[in-house]
Amino acid sequence: MISVATEYRRAGREPRAPDSVCYVCPRCHDTLALEHGELVCAACAGRYRLADAAYVDFAGPGLDFDDWWMQTPELQAQWLATKAPREEEFQLGGAQRYTLPLLRRLGLAPGATVLSAACGLAADVQYFNDQGYNAWGIDLGSRILRWSERRCRVRLSRADLFALPFAEASFDYVQCLNVIEHIGTVGDTTTVTEDYEAQRIAAIGSLLRVVKPGGYLLLSGVNRTFPIDFFHLQHSGPLRLHSPWEQFSLNCHDYQKLADATGYAEWTRPLPLRGFFSWTHLRRRPLVRPILPLANWALGCMPDAFYGSPLSFFSVVLIRRKAI
Ligand SMILES: [Zn+2]
Repeated sequence: MISVATEYRRAGREPRAPDSVCYVCPRCHDTLALEHGELVCAACAGRYRLADAAYVDFAGPGLDFDDWWMQTPELQAQWLATKAPREEEFQLGGAQRYTLPLLRRLGLAPGATVLSAACGLAADVQYFNDQGYNAWGIDLGSRILRWSERRCRVRLSRADLFALPFAEASFDYVQCLNVIEHIGTVGDTTTVTEDYEAQRIAAIGSLLRVVKPGGYLLLSGVNRTFPIDFFHLQHSGPLRLHSPWEQFSLNCHDYQKLADATGYAEWTRPLPLRGFFSWTHLRRRPLVRPILPLANWALGCMPDAFYGSPLSFFSVVLIRRKAI
């Protein structure tokens, strides 16, 4: 059996592309050295543990995200057995049908550097690596329980969005899907804190810091100006009705305003939605299933104005970092 440290060293010896990615100290961005199963920062003396599944723990035990299904061992086992496979299907479907074609359209060929921030189960990170991309993932939540199954686990780390363990301008493309609306909220609710806007600007700024000049950041979430939310239900029925002025969800203009406030963004644009959804729930309903290909097709051929408008139930936005 190969020890974690050996595996990590072996990964470090792989021939590296000129623009390869490596971990830096998330606090001071200085280089790290492997010492006795820990990555150690010479500048600030930060120490980061290599976990059993070969990922690095940059966040430490003080930082955590409360997933509701971690409350009891029974709930955890149930979630991993029933929900995790569906979420993996959703994530993998999006990576295959949406992100890979998008990377090609952006001119990013295999070999380009990719980060999935808040990658959860990391099925996308593994898929991008299998396609030849230099893909990395970070997450804080309990989905890392599944990382031991990943072939790319030396490129996965437990880290905070606000303190990414990567040098400035490391990635051609970064994605952070369905996350920004959960920043600046009270626990796992749709109630926002007083400083929610400042927190969201800091998060987008932290993501754009590791994007190369001229590179791209993809964000997504439910559309604030569409009054029905199918995703944040918190056990309260099949949908959540909300005001188009609520502060939890964002529309394209909100993303643009926040991205502009970071000082990094050249432009922010809404993108078509075709291929983004795997319809993992609806596909299991015989009456709905036949119309899904039509719905998916329609989501790709609306005029540009549709995707940023109150008619669209969801937003996907692409932000370009200013070229130098
Ligand atoms: Zn440091």
